[in-house]
Amino acid sequence: MRILLVEDEKDLAYIIKQGLEEEGYVVDVAHDGEEGLYMAETFPLDAIVLDIMLPLMDGLTVLSTLRKKGIMTPVILLTARDALLDKIKGLDTGADDYLTKPFVFEELLARIRSLLRRKTTVKEAIIRIADLEIDTASHEVKRGGKPINLSAREYALLEYLAYEKGKVVSRTDIVEHIYHEEADMDSNVVDVYINYLRNKIDKDFSHKLIHTVRGAGYILKDEE
Ligand code: CA
Repeated sequence: MRILLVEDEKDLAYIIKQGLEEEGYVVDVAHDGEEGLYMAETFPLDAIVLDIMLPLMDGLTVLSTLRKKGIMTPVILLTARDALLDKIKGLDTGADDYLTKPFVFEELLARIRSLLRRKTTVKEAIIRIADLEIDTASHEVKRGGKPINLSAREYALLEYLAYEKGKVVSRTDIVEHIYHEEADMDSNVVDVYINYLRNKIDKDFSHKLIHTVRGAGYILKDEE
């Protein structure tokens, strides 16, 4: 999943970016409101973490501009302690959630997961497809009750397919949401990782869950 972080305090931005990347998210960072707005309009994002107090354009203006343009990417606002008016204005402007600084990183993660669920059909932290279980909080994956070890990239790919379960995702979608394009322009990388995943998720089971849709992409689903 791909997240935009708009935060002008560079040390804080760096720490949050590192933490999110360790969780397998692809993270874009903007250090002012104008850059944030540009990225939010341009990149295929799954969520935005948006500070309110920003140089060049404040977070509430960024948010209202996005919403006026019909860009409905889920947004978590970062507000200063006790800035009740900001919170109210933020929610009225179309923020999906807010978090008061300073915050515990685990809480940011939990709120991001909650937003990602809201924009998909997934309702719980554990995503289940047939006998496959993906715990999006702990990143533990099981099939038929047996733990499966995945690398961070394999997990990120499986989680993306799982949030979109029952829907076809194209190689381009996968590259844009799971890998930074500049790192992996070649969409063959996707096929390679899909093969790794199949070896771990499907190989030992007669009931396959990862399906190729010729000319379109991949789908994670229960039926054959
Ligand atoms: Ca700030």
